[in-house]
Amino acid sequence: MALLEAKNITFHYPDQPRKAIDNISFQIEQGEFIVLCGPSGSGKSTLLRLLKREIAPHGKWTGDLFFQNQAISHFSSEQLAQSIGMVFQDPENQIVMDQVMEELVFGLENIGTPTDEMRKKVAEMIHFFGLENLLHKRTHELSGGQKQLLNLASVLLMEPQVLLLDEPTAQLDPIAAKDFIGMLHRMNEEFGITVIIAEHRLEELFALADRVLVLEQGKKKHDGSPRKIIREI
Ligand code: ADP
Ligand code: ADP
Repeated sequence: MALLEAKNITFHYPDQPRKAIDNISFQIEQGEFIVLCGPSGSGKSTLLRLLKREIAPHGKWTGDLFFQNQAISHFSSEQLAQSIGMVFQDPENQIVMDQVMEELVFGLENIGTPTDEMRKKVAEMIHFFGLENLLHKRTHELSGGQKQLLNLASVLLMEPQVLLLDEPTAQLDPIAAKDFIGMLHRMNEEFGITVIIAEHRLEELFALADRVLVLEQGKKKHDGSPRKIIREI
């Protein structure tokens, strides 16, 4: 059984001359590390946001999206948060709380996690990410790279099986970007979490990726191993 399946997905923003996503299909298996690439405007963000139901949750798009054979359109928002996590390009965009610790517990509190369990999970995540020395800080005091790591840790606490990332390092300096990608790689290896990342820093990612999906004008142009894609493009 595929973890995620898209069948003939098509999406057209109102008033736009062409489709942003044009009849795309794919299957994604548990544990895959996938890089989504293609020129600006090729539909990467739109595709990720459709998978997470961030746009057009009830219609406008056609086709079918399944998570473990269940239609994503029927998921409750809680079910969705615990299946598919997302990190966006702008580190600011996602942070909602004033204190780092509040930010980490926010999602778990929302789904009613018992306090003991929440403490344990948060402590493990702080250790995994090495966030100990940020705990006394306020979120707005963090650097862009620290904010993105906090976003990643907060999303991961929901224990999603898939993580979607929309150019998460675009606003980071090269060292912070490398740290962030290194952390993603560890999460994929150690937790088996499935990663789909839209990125421009392709060299670093091609070395880690199992598979590359290339979009062009809303269509799936290539789909295969990094080695195969490098031969084709
Ligand atoms: P990418 O992430 O590859 O840069 P996008 O998914 O952002 O591509 O954009 C795909 C197409 O959809 C582009 O033509 C873009 O202009 C258009 N588009 C993206 N977001 C919107 C929006 N909110 N409203 C209208 N058109 C949009
Ligand atoms: P990226 O290439 O990083 O995906 P874009 O520059 O395409 O980002 O888009 C940035 C933001 O502007 C997104 O929120 C997108 O939805 C919106 N956007 C992009 N193109 C359009 C458009 N033609 N009309 C309205 N909003 C758009």
